[in-house]
Amino acid sequence: MDIRKQAEVDGEKRGPADPGADGGAAKAAANTPTAAELRLIHRFTRRELRAEELYVFRVILCDNETDRDGERFETAGLPKLAELFVGKTGLFDHSGKSGDQVMRIYDTEVIAAPGRTTGAGEPYTAVRAKVYLPRGGTAEELIAQIDAGIKKEVSVGCAVGLAKCSVCGKPHGREGCRHQKGKVYDGAVCCRILCDPADAYEFSFVAVPAQPGAGVIKRRGQTEEAAERWASVRAEELEALRELAADGRRYRGELLRKARRAAGLALPQLPGGLAEQMCAGLTTEELARAAEAFESQAARGLPLRPQLAPQGEAQATGVAGFKFG
Ligand SMILES: [Zn+2]
Repeated sequence: MDIRKQAEVDGEKRGPADPGADGGAAKAAANTPTAAELRLIHRFTRRELRAEELYVFRVILCDNETDRDGERFETAGLPKLAELFVGKTGLFDHSGKSGDQVMRIYDTEVIAAPGRTTGAGEPYTAVRAKVYLPRGGTAEELIAQIDAGIKKEVSVGCAVGLAKCSVCGKPHGREGCRHQKGKVYDGAVCCRILCDPADAYEFSFVAVPAQPGAGVIKRRGQTEEAAERWASVRAEELEALRELAADGRRYRGELLRKARRAAGLALPQLPGGLAEQMCAGLTTEELARAAEAFESQAARGLPLRPQLAPQGEAQATGVAGFKFG
């Protein structure tokens, strides 16, 4: 199943490159790749770029903390997830056109925060990505926003093989699991544990830069989950509607044939094309009624089922000549 989460650009500065004293210069150095990083970046570039041509920053992609959706990544799956994110692209859509600014994850790492424990009582663990983008042109706008701390949120997506129930350990909501996310069972809040990472997708800077802080997390949460739920409901409904439509088409086709045949029998003087045109313009319900009326009319005057009559007799009545069904 596909998972999309909001994450944050890591504002933490790097040690040696950031003496912290002189703001601008230190910042610039912190966002310029080291020689080792440059080697990693060159695995993804067509030509060897110089350090000053590139801007690098870090972003926390996901962690093992339970989020507002009542979901958390399984700690054991984070290294795999980190691996899957290497080489994935990021998008910054600054003019409303998709894919205006492309950046790439050139390295990821699983990091721990000593002393910090998650709500579930585990040591806090996160996947942090290092991202590069070429400086200059339209990139400067994004770089300025990252530097200013405005562009802080990114949306990341991945696919996991299993969403496990934290209470019973079964696939959440399946195989007999009736626990509900967010409800408390035996003193523990039920949540979905996202396990077995299968794929990682691109990330993007969220369209509307939100205020850093509480509002950010709120903006995600229910709405996104609801959207997902709607998406799946819609898919099911669409499938059902498609089946119904197919049934409907078959039913209408049968009615049409029946009505045309009956019209030919009931009103032999009616030109074939005209009966067909009349029938085609009717709604399915009208068609059913018309077919019935034609049939009862035909039953009065003419043999309704000429196939039961001897071939010669049907020919003789002239019915065959009007059969166009
Ligand atoms: Zn359960």
